[in-house]
Amino acid sequence: MKCRRFGPTGKQVSVIGQGTWNMERDDRGAAIAALRRGLDAGMHHIDTAELYGDGRVEELVGEAIAGRRGEVFLVSKVLPQNASRRGTLQACERSLQRLRTDHLDGYLLHWPGSHPLAETIASFEELQAAGKIGCWGLSNFDEAELAGAIRIAGEGKIACNQVLYHLEERAIEHAVIPFCDEHGIAVVAYSPFGSGDFPSPASPGGRVLAAIAASHGASPRQIALAFLLRFSTVFAIPKASRAEHAAENAAAAEIELTGGELRRIDEAFPRGRRRRGVPTL
Ligand code: NAP
Repeated sequence: MKCRRFGPTGKQVSVIGQGTWNMERDDRGAAIAALRRGLDAGMHHIDTAELYGDGRVEELVGEAIAGRRGEVFLVSKVLPQNASRRGTLQACERSLQRLRTDHLDGYLLHWPGSHPLAETIASFEELQAAGKIGCWGLSNFDEAELAGAIRIAGEGKIACNQVLYHLEERAIEHAVIPFCDEHGIAVVAYSPFGSGDFPSPASPGGRVLAAIAASHGASPRQIALAFLLRFSTVFAIPKASRAEHAAENAAAAEIELTGGELRRIDEAFPRGRRRRGVPTL
């Protein structure tokens, strides 16, 4: 598995990780097996949140990583409504308990909310100083909101910004990725397969992906991941509740697309115009 530096943390993190949203709806045994298969294949970045299944997904992840905590780069997220000075500390304790661990590798604010960001950041820094989180980051922040966070925390403190990024939603390429690149913030691409709405093989774009995939002996989804990962600051966290999907996703880290292939994908899935804010699902 290819790894790259995760923002300012200095940690080498797998370019492809594992999402867990809605996993409480999947066959529990299969989902746990898929996460473990993903770990076997080197996808050690596991992304979860207190939101997912109202905590049930964190419990599932805790079971999946039992006995393997040392291998995992474990990330969870606090809900904006819980992200007050005290609420953040309490939410983190609940997540640690459900995940059956004494520390998270990363802790993110799920999206901008109404509690003052300075309070949330103060709590993140307290948790970090106490060794309960290795680093902290944000999610669904646009470049202006990130600049505001840097004004509060200072440069070199925000580990990552987790944002929507897939072939048919490339808006973050306009300003969010360049901003993160300039400030050394990792970009974590969520819903890299469009959250279940992957381009159909019969569509024009789907045919381009299929042709490129065939020449690499790969799948269209693997080609999509390789395209998103062409930026050196980007990581992707596809969710898979089937072991064979996890194995396939991990193998995408080895694919190198040529300049010509990148151009064909770029034309088939145009970036579109710059819009205000970050796109969300
Ligand atoms: P996604 O990863 O784009 O797509 C997941 C879907 O793709 C599932 O139906 C999965 O099926 C399928 N899939 C995965 N690998 C496959 C493969 N190799 N072949 C065929 N199908 C495959 O969707 P997502 O769950 O929305 O996003 C990924 C993660 O990002 C989430 O799980 C979550 O951790 C994070 N996220 C964060 C936010 C945020 O606001 N920060 C928002 C959304 C998501 P199976 O499950 O059947 O394998």
